[in-house]
Amino acid sequence: MANDFQHYFRLWEASFPQRREVRWANGYLHNAYCADCRYCCGPQDSATPFPMPLLPAQCHERLEDDFYLLDPVTPCLDDRGCKSCGPQGCRLPRPQRPIACGLFPLVLVRDALHLYQCCPAALHLPLREWIRLGEQARDWLLTFSPAERQRLSLSLSPETLAESYIDLHLALPEHP
Ligand code: SF4
Ligand code: SF4
Repeated sequence: MANDFQHYFRLWEASFPQRREVRWANGYLHNAYCADCRYCCGPQDSATPFPMPLLPAQCHERLEDDFYLLDPVTPCLDDRGCKSCGPQGCRLPRPQRPIACGLFPLVLVRDALHLYQCCPAALHLPLREWIRLGEQARDWLLTFSPAERQRLSLSLSPETLAESYIDLHLALPEHP
């Protein structure tokens, strides 16, 4: 995803004049901006694949029907968009979607949570609310084993994090 912050700031300010609700429940963010946005499911500005790891229980032999794949068990998103994004949004039942989809615009990278800054919800909610939402997401992620969390962690480079994400300073210790 490109980090054209000023472009997205103006686009989302015009598209969403009223603030909408974002809350954490049942293991994912319920984000009222998504229905009129779908930016993070459609074609991306970059051909660089954005990985969306699955838990072992989510893997099956026909993953390629649902996703473009980075490797045999890792879906990804790029300038083709996500294979499961249809005209009405995601066509997959919630349990089949990558964990990253339920967390976004929060991302788990190397045992810490960051906020993607060009999501309209990220731009419109105060940072203190994202810290509160991030704490709820962190507590949920801590119910997974360290090995599962390592699998769910995205391989975003320090440069990408610094350019496009806000560090929420919410670390997930290996042994809480
Ligand atoms: S960019 Fe943000 S608001 Fe838009 S679809 Fe993704 S998570 Fe939802
Ligand atoms: S699996 Fe669904 S929610 Fe996730 S990127 Fe694809 S279309 Fe979007």
